[in-house]
Amino acid sequence: MRKLWINGQEVDGSEGTQVAIDPATEEIIAEYAWGGTAEADQAVAVAKAAFDGWRRTPAGTRAEMLHEIARRMRQEQESLAVDLTRETGRALRKNRGYVEWSAQCFDYYAELGRHSRGRVIPSPEASQLSLVLKVPLGVVAAIVPWNYPLLLLVWKLAPALAAGNTVVIKPATYTSWVTLGFARLFDHLPPGVVNIVAGSGRLVGDHLVRHPDVRMVAFTGSTEVGQHIMRMAADDMKHIHLELGGKDPLIICADSDLEAACRAAVWGGFLNAGQVCTSVERVYVERVVFRDVLDRVKALAEGLVVGPGMDPRSEVTPMIRPEERDKVHQQVISAQQSGALIVTGGRKPASQPRGYFYEPTVLTGVSEDMLVMREETFGPVLPVIAVDDFDEALRRSNQSQYGLGATLFTNDARKVKQYMEQIEAGNVWVNDPIVDNLAGPFGGMKRSGIGRELGEEGFEEFLETKHVHWEIEPGIKPWWYPWE
Ligand code: NDP
Repeated sequence: MRKLWINGQEVDGSEGTQVAIDPATEEIIAEYAWGGTAEADQAVAVAKAAFDGWRRTPAGTRAEMLHEIARRMRQEQESLAVDLTRETGRALRKNRGYVEWSAQCFDYYAELGRHSRGRVIPSPEASQLSLVLKVPLGVVAAIVPWNYPLLLLVWKLAPALAAGNTVVIKPATYTSWVTLGFARLFDHLPPGVVNIVAGSGRLVGDHLVRHPDVRMVAFTGSTEVGQHIMRMAADDMKHIHLELGGKDPLIICADSDLEAACRAAVWGGFLNAGQVCTSVERVYVERVVFRDVLDRVKALAEGLVVGPGMDPRSEVTPMIRPEERDKVHQQVISAQQSGALIVTGGRKPASQPRGYFYEPTVLTGVSEDMLVMREETFGPVLPVIAVDDFDEALRRSNQSQYGLGATLFTNDARKVKQYMEQIEAGNVWVNDPIVDNLAGPFGGMKRSGIGRELGEEGFEEFLETKHVHWEIEPGIKPWWYPWE
């Protein structure tokens, strides 16, 4: 049985145990410890105690310890990937890639931490030294969702540790078992530097966010919980970093490579059964090519292989839970009742009687007031909408409370320029959607979040800035009292 990981030791949970479920088979995988506020307090206390030693550890030594995490990930790539597939349902071959990518993230931040520096700036007087120091914050609570339990954790953990912070991890309920298994990647770190407390969001997550000794909350998840965290963090003026939901648009211009654009839209809409924060959730197509695009998208969606992530042929894997699938189905049915047309899909696949599968679904005839166009869907549903021209597509792309990612397919440089200036999204892709780059900042505008992960920006989030003013030749200044 997997246990909580606190102060470098396995610990039982005061809330008993839970079971992990395989979404492809609905079977129980294993049992694991379930924590509560007592373990959250314990983890924060040991992380606080470990902070001074970790921040003073030379950056080069810290870097080597982070590279060691990357080495361990590569050594254990297969078993990590299998665990991820079993608990998330996601395709095994994709998970292998994500383990490697997570290792690269540790390597990247190990070096960014090693080369981190402040600045010496001009002083008001010649006898003074003015320094800008970058210092770690203290204890960071990393609260992670279930869709990418390793990758989205690593995007927080690697920069937080490289910057000299200590961390308490709160995994999502659905993916706590796999996350508790990551403890073996960290057991060479000083005790207390990394801790994992599985427990419910409302209890353990909430407690961590309110805890006075937690200096930063790094969160990925829904906009609703993000808003709640922001309100709670206000009491102590905690640093917050929020990666939230999206409703990403993709525009297909008539001048683009239509086959590439259609394949990209289908991939972007159905990857990980649409459970990606940057899933393509709205496709705007110039009317002159709309029928052609819709036919191609339909054919591509119908050709996808739906099946369990352990089967190398599977292209669309299960959703995480039946409740999540029901929410998606409700959006589809409500759109249909309001006049939308289900071009393909819209039900559980007959080929998969067990598991939480949902057919790749293409909709058209949707309008902006429908839930499926306003709320994040987080499932394999792709609405395809005809527009008169690029300007209308751009305007409608921005008609959303979200602003996470956005994609444009065109070969016209003037449209690209206008798009990159006017689109309201933190991640903008041209002719190639959902590509993340470790060296480039990732995050959202509007209700999609605050702050950025990855890149140098994702490192800076975990640092506080201090301005030090040092008079090297002490003496009485003429502007002090008494005034002449
Ligand atoms: P949730 O917001 O429900 O949960 C995210 C995490 O927050 C979980 O660990 C959850 O724990 C925890 N949590 C829940 N309630 C609280 C609380 N009151 N205080 C503190 N923590 C709490 O999101 P999901 O896990 O359902 O993930 C899907 C959502 O995440 C989607 O909306 C998606 O768009 C978004 N997302 C955003 C990404 C981005 O980068 N912008 C990336 C991936 C996903 P528990 O599971 O125990 O409830």
